[in-house]
Amino acid sequence: MTRRADPEIAPQSSGSAGLLTIDLDALAANWRLLRDRMGGPQAGGACAAVVKADGYGLGALPVARRLAAEGCTTFFVANVEEGISLRQALPEPEIFVLNGLLPGTAALFARHRLAPCLNDPEQVKGWLAFCTGSSPSPAALHVDTGMTRLGLDPEDLEELDLDAAHALPGLVVMSQLACADEPGHPLNRRQLADFAKIRPRLAAARASLANSYGLFLGSDFLFDLGRPGYALYGGNPTPSAGANPMRPVVRLQAPVLQLREIRRSRTVGYGASACTGPPAHIATLAAGYADGYLRAISNRGAVFVDGCACPVTGRISMDLLTADVTDALRAGIDIRPGTLVDLIDDDHTIDHVAERAGTIGYEILTGLGSRYRRRYLGAVEAALPEQSGP
Ligand SMILES: *Cc1c(COP(=O)(O)O)cnc(C)c1O
Repeated sequence: MTRRADPEIAPQSSGSAGLLTIDLDALAANWRLLRDRMGGPQAGGACAAVVKADGYGLGALPVARRLAAEGCTTFFVANVEEGISLRQALPEPEIFVLNGLLPGTAALFARHRLAPCLNDPEQVKGWLAFCTGSSPSPAALHVDTGMTRLGLDPEDLEELDLDAAHALPGLVVMSQLACADEPGHPLNRRQLADFAKIRPRLAAARASLANSYGLFLGSDFLFDLGRPGYALYGGNPTPSAGANPMRPVVRLQAPVLQLREIRRSRTVGYGASACTGPPAHIATLAAGYADGYLRAISNRGAVFVDGCACPVTGRISMDLLTADVTDALRAGIDIRPGTLVDLIDDDHTIDHVAERAGTIGYEILTGLGSRYRRRYLGAVEAALPEQSGP
């Protein structure tokens, strides 16, 4: 797919910052696709949305408000602060806090109607005691079946008052898969078996096992509540199968600040790690590692003008990167100061950029810097009626 470079956008009010476009319609379509994998409400399957780390860097509030408007009624955040800010925007949905219940924070959870993911026996006892003293409040029991990170050991369940836990409203029993991105990994089946063993003891609880990848492992991994994050934001939940069933959500563009004609052989950037000689043109763009365009991409990745690849040449610096635009100019593409160049687009996704950087798309998303001008496509509250103006 080719796109016109749009030089008119950059020099306006934004000055020389990059432009981050977040497509809320694509996000909503991704959520609906994942919800349908859960069988939809008719089949009893529900799909939550994980919006921790500010919605994987894309803005937890616009993301969650749009998904709530689509019908998503359950959200997961990492910590209480994220939960409070989400609650202020969304009074209705249930909000689970993955990082658990630290001592002395139960009242804070209750005040904002946040549900803790109870990760060890002390947290379970603490929450049950708090609920006895006030009122039974929702929570999740997080059982560790293979991450050794957060969660109760299955043996911990023996010493707990599961009847009391079972009586909590809206109880969820959950676990997290360690290797769901590798469908053939034997740990997937082992974790599934261990999780299935626990479930009858908390029969009334909603069971939740699948993250983005888990939703594509087979119907026995689905249980009652899907818990995707990455795939909502366009990440590929089926990396071993190749084609990405999700719609891209993110487009990242940076303006050209300067176009250099190379008239004699010279080195480019810190460390003189690249050389270029005439005839060549180097464009300097307003994005660097401080904007989350990782330094590991130096001399490895490419940026795109009108779909034409321009290799990243030389080291990426804090605020700038340099790209060889010789071929694009030769192809007749107009490049000048202000021209917006694609760093991430529909054809060069977060997964592609991550591969170039030797990391995962999660790190690309959550590392997106704060300097970009952010533009949201699609309504934030699609299903809600227009608000009447004052
Ligand atoms: C982050 C997280 C998820 C979402 O995982 P994705 O791979 O982004 O779909 C689900 N469950 C838990 C416990 C998590 O920490």
